Amino acid sequence: MILKKIAVVLCITASIACNKKETKEKQIQKMDTNILLTEWNTPFGAPPFDKIKSEDYLPAFNIALEKHIEEIKTIIENKEAPNFKNTIQALETSGFYLNRLTNVFYAVNAANTNDTLKTVDKELAPRLASHWDDVVLNPQLFERVKAVYNQKEKLNLTEEGLRLLNKKHKWFVRSGANLKGIPADRLREINAKLASLSQKFGQNLLDETNTFEFHTTDKNDLGNLPTSLAALSEEEAITRGHNNGWSFTLQRPSINPFLQSSPNRKARKQLFDGYALRGNNGNEADNKIIIQKLTSLRVEKANLLGHNTHAEYVLSDAMAKEPKAVFDFMDKLWPFALEMAKKERKALADNMKSEGISETFSGSDWRYYVEKVRKERYAYDEEATRPYFEFTAVRQGVFALAEKLFGLTFTELNNVPKWHKDQQAFEVLEADGTHLGLIYMDFFARESKRGGAWMNSLINQSNINGMIHPIVTNNFNYPAPTKNGPSLLSFSEAETLFHEFGHALHGLFSKVKYQSLSGTNVPRDFVEFPSQVMENWMSEPEVLKLFAKHYQTGKVIPDEMIKKMKDANSFNSGFTTIEYMAAAYLDMKWHTLKDTELRDVNSFEKEAMKNLGLIEEILPRYRSTYFSHIFSGGYSSGYYSYLWSEVLDADAFQAFKETGNIFDSETAKRFRHMLSKGGSKPGMDLYVEFRGQEPKIDPLLKKKGFQ
Ligand SMILES: [Zn+2]
Repeated sequence: MILKKIAVVLCITASIACNKKETKEKQIQKMDTNILLTEWNTPFGAPPFDKIKSEDYLPAFNIALEKHIEEIKTIIENKEAPNFKNTIQALETSGFYLNRLTNVFYAVNAANTNDTLKTVDKELAPRLASHWDDVVLNPQLFERVKAVYNQKEKLNLTEEGLRLLNKKHKWFVRSGANLKGIPADRLREINAKLASLSQKFGQNLLDETNTFEFHTTDKNDLGNLPTSLAALSEEEAITRGHNNGWSFTLQRPSINPFLQSSPNRKARKQLFDGYALRGNNGNEADNKIIIQKLTSLRVEKANLLGHNTHAEYVLSDAMAKEPKAVFDFMDKLWPFALEMAKKERKALADNMKSEGISETFSGSDWRYYVEKVRKERYAYDEEATRPYFEFTAVRQGVFALAEKLFGLTFTELNNVPKWHKDQQAFEVLEADGTHLGLIYMDFFARESKRGGAWMNSLINQSNINGMIHPIVTNNFNYPAPTKNGPSLLSFSEAETLFHEFGHALHGLFSKVKYQSLSGTNVPRDFVEFPSQVMENWMSEPEVLKLFAKHYQTGKVIPDEMIKKMKDANSFNSGFTTIEYMAAAYLDMKWHTLKDTELRDVNSFEKEAMKNLGLIEEILPRYRSTYFSHIFSGGYSSGYYSYLWSEVLDADAFQAFKETGNIFDSETAKRFRHMLSKGGSKPGMDLYVEFRGQEPKIDPLLKKKGFQ
């Protein structure tokens, strides 16, 4: 569950001072014919989804981009000396239409797309990237920003104003605005190379994943694979040109259930090895040379921008601040998780032995025996819990929790425009009845929606010339109710609702002046904290009893079922933690290299894992040659973030527990205050204000059963 922060962010909101009368009139004429560029006279200023046509987006973007370029020009050509208002605040408030459009377009494209929107998306991505490059690499604009930055001590700015100035300045510096001549040219060259290497890495991985196939005609190989998955692998076999049998691939939804279900050791090993060797087969799709070049160029880039390592460059903008902080917290957790994983290994190997198999227990056996031991020990059937998690009941559960903690209430609205008939909209009200914001919830899977669950901001909160209230969305892929029955969720699907609702609260609670500092505009290692923390409440019996009621009988979920569910879920936590952490370490090892020497990828990885004491039955969740998060996604030096957020969420929940009341209103007030600050203060400062101290790892150790 990852929050997808889609919008290109930075510089949004409010009205614009445009000096050029002629252009302004021309713009307005063109603009008022396109609904996306008009003022929205809808309830709460919600986007007029019912009136927006897919064909409106591209022309609207054309005008909005043009308009933003003119606004930037106006800032640069201002005859007055640069000051906070005419430069920093002007930059912040420029691009109002562009940013509002970006938010709306990406939200709709993700949740309810069509061919027209897909075409717009393709055309738009490179144009937006180069537009923002033009802004941030504009030397005259940077001169003005720097002039204001250099006198920041004398400007008597508010704390938030100073934060905005620092952040805007940093944005330019991190993009290389300080470089001139040869280093500037080299940076541009490196950026282009990095982009094409990353792209090639992803392409190779896709090829390697798609080429592999394991085909069988022996039904026994399937073991107790669920019928629906068996049917899918039957279809896969036909697609791949077989007349009969079942085909399995290296896509996770195909390989994982097979590894869990198949009693055929040899077949398991074949798939397991196929997965582990992707990008490492010495063929055309091999990723090793790409990794060498990527890691070397990243060091060179970091050096150009004044940092020793790539990780140092990336983390200077994160809550962790520096690589040492990341290693420190992982080093504390690692031994406990490793010890637990070793215990799990013993239990699994013993179980295999008891079946009369005398060979050595190996990595490809792990998942199969986990499922077996889980069933034997806990007799837990996830299907039996579904009737207690009907989706409306779960939704009312998060609303009830928000009322208990923060006094919020939710009123369904039928008069606001929606992007799909299944979407629901709620006005969020404070305890005293005042308006806080709007939340849209879109629950069901459909062809026009991408997979997963996520939160978007349609309108960010801000308060420059009056309060702009936030409008946020939550999106899921739950099965829609049918004539035969309601939409019943699994425990983890219900947990996802609490998770995404946590992101929504982060957006709704925002109380800052500048929208680029509002809500979820926070570093990557903070952003999952407000969402993950909500999952803690969900699994508390006190909260479950508020909403987990059988959809037919109305009976509250039995205590015994809650206990079984918790025990079964926590079994194998050593393995999942170790496999994740090994990858997080690998990421950090690659990105704390200080020189540009080209490393042999396999021996580098082997050495790193050996130093950790990783047991050979466990591989890093991603090995280097298929670690797309860090080599073709945006997570380099950031894969640790999920666990970092887990430390925060367990420690924050502990603050509630310590009061003896998980709904304690004083603690909830401080928690809300922390979220209301968005990115207007450094994450650690906010956390310490809330908790009175920096986060400790003990609550997480306890939660994971390590202590
Ligand atoms: Zn999330």
